[in-house]
Amino acid sequence: MSAQCSSIKQQDHDGNLNFINTQETQWRDVPKEPIKYASKKDTIMVSGGLTIVQDKLMESAICSLGEKFVALPNPDFESFQTGKAYGNRGQCNPTYFTVGNLVKYLQNVRDEQGLTSKEIVERYIYLTAGGCGPCRFGMYITEYKKALRDAGFDGFRITSFEHDKGIFQGDDIEEQILNFTPRFFVTLVKSVVIGDIINILGYKMRPYEVVSGSVDIAIDECKNIASDAFIEHKSLIKAMWKCRRVLEEVKLNRIQPKAKVMVMGEFWAAMTQGDGNYNLHRFLEAEGAECIPQPIINRLMLSLWEAERELDRNAGLPNEDAKGVDFTHAKSKVLIKAGKMAVKTHFNLYAKAIGLHDFEIPNMDELSDLSKEFYTLDCEGGEGHLEVAHLLESIKHNIAHLVISIKPFGCMPSSAVSDGIQSLVTSRFPQANFLSVETSGEGAANFYSRVQMALFKAKQLAKEEFEEIPTPLSIPEKLNNYLYQPKNERAGTASQLLESIREH
Ligand code: SF4
Repeated sequence: MSAQCSSIKQQDHDGNLNFINTQETQWRDVPKEPIKYASKKDTIMVSGGLTIVQDKLMESAICSLGEKFVALPNPDFESFQTGKAYGNRGQCNPTYFTVGNLVKYLQNVRDEQGLTSKEIVERYIYLTAGGCGPCRFGMYITEYKKALRDAGFDGFRITSFEHDKGIFQGDDIEEQILNFTPRFFVTLVKSVVIGDIINILGYKMRPYEVVSGSVDIAIDECKNIASDAFIEHKSLIKAMWKCRRVLEEVKLNRIQPKAKVMVMGEFWAAMTQGDGNYNLHRFLEAEGAECIPQPIINRLMLSLWEAERELDRNAGLPNEDAKGVDFTHAKSKVLIKAGKMAVKTHFNLYAKAIGLHDFEIPNMDELSDLSKEFYTLDCEGGEGHLEVAHLLESIKHNIAHLVISIKPFGCMPSSAVSDGIQSLVTSRFPQANFLSVETSGEGAANFYSRVQMALFKAKQLAKEEFEEIPTPLSIPEKLNNYLYQPKNERAGTASQLLESIREH
């Protein structure tokens, strides 16, 4: 130890470390002082952490219900560092990014709007999804509370809706403050579904834009059109038609053999658009690929599928709380089916109006059938069997030239379970081009280099596939219209388009 280092002493204890473990350090999940919270009309709800389009639409949708709601900015590297500074060690990085993002936002409110920490705690409430795990997900709410307390916001309220209970919940949530009614959830789901549709179209079009940046401008306009429709209580279907006209103006050149890359994995890491996954989608696009994203509707359908399966498993068990004949099971079953139907109907209506024709909402029964030989369906947590199912689906139907499974460092369901099984899948199907990558919030250079190596093979595959199909002397105009979305056994967009007009 250098002389300089050895001269550094703990100021309070003069270098004596015997104080460690002499004080009670038991965590208590209650504020130290009683707090008089603001009334419902003065309470501001904050949330965020989805994609940029969805955060904005969620804000408009919830505000349209008369709630005061603010969507947090997209989490960045600074959010991650703030989360690390105030969070426990050993958490997964969605926690650090989202917890840090909330702390950073509240610190900005304090420093820029001149509110005291006490006033912020009284007026604000954070809305998030929760659950019992079985991975670290079960610890999220406690993590939020711990970090907020250490950042000076002791007693800040966090409320959650259980991610696997769908739109029919709310009994045990602070109904005095939040209206977690079916109407609230239906509106929320509409905003998420529309956001998914706009995002999917953005990913389909951006790699082929003739004028750089033109798709982003059009997508931004679509986001504003949909947002205004929520705020002004106008028809969302008409808004989607309006977006269709905006997108039709974008010039595309789709006859380019680009590698198609399915990005899946742990929900947050695969979905976020920023430092949380090193901007993976944008990186792939810059490297000449087209991404197949994982829309949030996939997670929604998995949650409903899991809830239904749980019900079926418990069907024969007696309900000791029931008085007389127990209809709880039948009622829940009907509600889940209604929920699924509502999500699908809204998705299909909006998708049709804006011109997304080739996206199919995943059939969860088919995906579970596909994966159950490899992954026990009883093993829940994270994406459960879905990652294995997506890889098998991609192999079976030739959906992509490369499948990337992205997950936070040490993610229990994704790294520890799914990836173990994926090695069995890739040994049975050696033609699969599969890459599993972890994010830790740091170490982007290593991450990009691994993606580039897998992408090299994917590009070769896309090129070979393209060259197998004769290119016509003149390219029909419809091939460069985003509304033309043929489906066939080819994976790459250019190959699919040429195949669709090929004379056999
Ligand atoms: S799924 Fe993975 S990243 Fe998400 S909470 Fe669980 S362990 Fe963390």
